[in-house]
Parts: sequence; C-alpha cells; structure tokens
Amino acid sequence: METIREKIAYLRGVIDGDPTLAEGRNGFLFGKVLQILEDIAYELDDLAQAQDELDEYLEEVDFDLAYLEDELLLDDDDFDEHDHDDWDDSLVEVECPVCDDIVTFDEEFLFDEGVQIRCPRCDAVVFETADFEELDDLFVEDAVEDSDED
Ligand SMILES: [Zn+2]
Repeated sequence: METIREKIAYLRGVIDGDPTLAEGRNGFLFGKVLQILEDIAYELDDLAQAQDELDEYLEEVDFDLAYLEDELLLDDDDFDEHDHDDWDDSLVEVECPVCDDIVTFDEEFLFDEGVQIRCPRCDAVVFETADFEELDDLFVEDAVEDSDED
C-alpha cells in the first residue's frame, strides 16, 4: 500500500517535472504546500510511534491487572463460600411490638427489596424495608375501607 510519504514524493516529482508548476509564483506556492504536507506526514509518524509505545505499555498494565484480578477474585470466592455457609444458619429474632412474641426470619430478608415481615400470631409488622412504605400505606387504606363497609 502506498504511504502518505510516497504520495507526497510522487506529487513533488510531478510538480518538479512540469516547468509551468515548478517555476515562478506557482513553484513557490507548491513548494510551500509540499513542505506543509511533509511536516504533517512527519508528525503523523511521531504520533504512530507514540501510539505503538502506549499500546505496548497498556498491554503490560492489562496483563498485570488480569493477574491482580485473578489473585483477588480467588480470595473473594473463598470468602464468599465461607460467608454463605454462615448465612444459611443466620436467623434474625425480632420481638413483636404488639404481642411481644419472638418472630424469627432469615437474615437475607434484611438485604432484599420490598420486604415486609409480619408477626405470625397478631399480624403486626415487625420489619419492613424502606421501599415497602408506599405499598403498606395502600394496604392500610384498603383495610380501612373494608372495615367501613363491614
Ligand atoms: Zn405479634
């Protein structure tokens, strides 16, 4: 494939070979334009070389990062497995605010969304996540309407 430098050299050859282009004011202008084109080609070479060096450096960093990720993820897996074994047996005990009954539920519900735990004896709410509030209001309104009809 023809490089930019080769194209510029070809153009210089064409201009130099034609006296109407190479002499006088035309010759001066074409000379200036060719000089600028050669400067651009030189700058592009510099950029390409800098890009190659950057690519090599990035590959090294990427390799190092992959190594670190492997090390860290291995440790993380060990930790998670150990942790989940504990979670299987982790239960939370909450005292019902209404009937003082002890309500027991899985600790994982604490980290879920839209959760509401009710006392199995008196149906009072003993725990709910922050995002459950709106639904709870709707439920309460419905309950009031129902009781009005009764
Ligand atoms: Zn209760």
